[in-house]
Amino acid sequence: MSRDSDLDQKTVLQAIGVLKSHYRSFPLESQVWARSGHRRSPYRALVLFGLSSRTKDKLLVDTCRRFFQEFPNPKAMLNTWPRHRAAVARVVRTGQMRFIDSLVSKLKESGGSVPADRDGLMAIFGVGEKIAECVAAYGWGQEALPLDGNCCRVIERLMGLTSTNRTGSNSGVKSWSAKVLRRWLKATYVEHREWMTALGVAMIDVHELLRLHGQMLCGRRPDCARCPVPGCRSRRQQYSESAEPGIDESLWEDWRELLLERSASSEEGVIGQAAGIMEQEK
Ligand code: SF4
Repeated sequence: MSRDSDLDQKTVLQAIGVLKSHYRSFPLESQVWARSGHRRSPYRALVLFGLSSRTKDKLLVDTCRRFFQEFPNPKAMLNTWPRHRAAVARVVRTGQMRFIDSLVSKLKESGGSVPADRDGLMAIFGVGEKIAECVAAYGWGQEALPLDGNCCRVIERLMGLTSTNRTGSNSGVKSWSAKVLRRWLKATYVEHREWMTALGVAMIDVHELLRLHGQMLCGRRPDCARCPVPGCRSRRQQYSESAEPGIDESLWEDWRELLLERSASSEEGVIGQAAGIMEQEK
């Protein structure tokens, strides 16, 4: 890493420390996993994150609720495929059907198992590095760093990489894609693992802290006056509010809830119900 990027590393590490304290009341993934990781379903994580591209959180949650009502697990999906393909096509967008078809082929090939490795996941149509990282973390509990658009925006602002000079050829500022940024931040985490661990921040928590900040304060119109992060190279106003952030602790509860396996009895009920609905639709 050059001296410039060492400086950037310091800025990002400082930001992570401050964000951890600022959003201390919010349950991060490492805490959620410790509580309910044993109930997480890699299948549900793959469906949810696979359908998440270019979809607002609320629409994604509605779509997945309907989807999981009919196909709560791989068995339900394989047992009814391709008979109920038309019903799925009514739940997801037309452009998402290639992902679903590819997912079903993968499940068939593996006897209903979701791959636990990045290459296996990325062999599914529409699954890139970000989604594979999400499934690794939220479905399998592995160390991973997805970095979505919110996270990238926050990092770019911290480093003073605006969207204009990020791609500009004469700005003299490095142009870092999400992929490069992800790898750099992963390496930064590994290099500072001891410090991160002492702070109580797992690798996936770095993603969540940046995402949360991108949603709460550093959105399209950054609220710099309420942002406690020091050293940001894009700050527009001085920090003037040190009050508690007043964050809703259930902010991501709806989609997190969808990642949990249902009990066998409730799944049987749902499958029976879904089969009934499908039969009526014939
Ligand atoms: S100071 Fe402003 S631009 Fe920088 S991280 Fe905070 S909200 Fe975002």
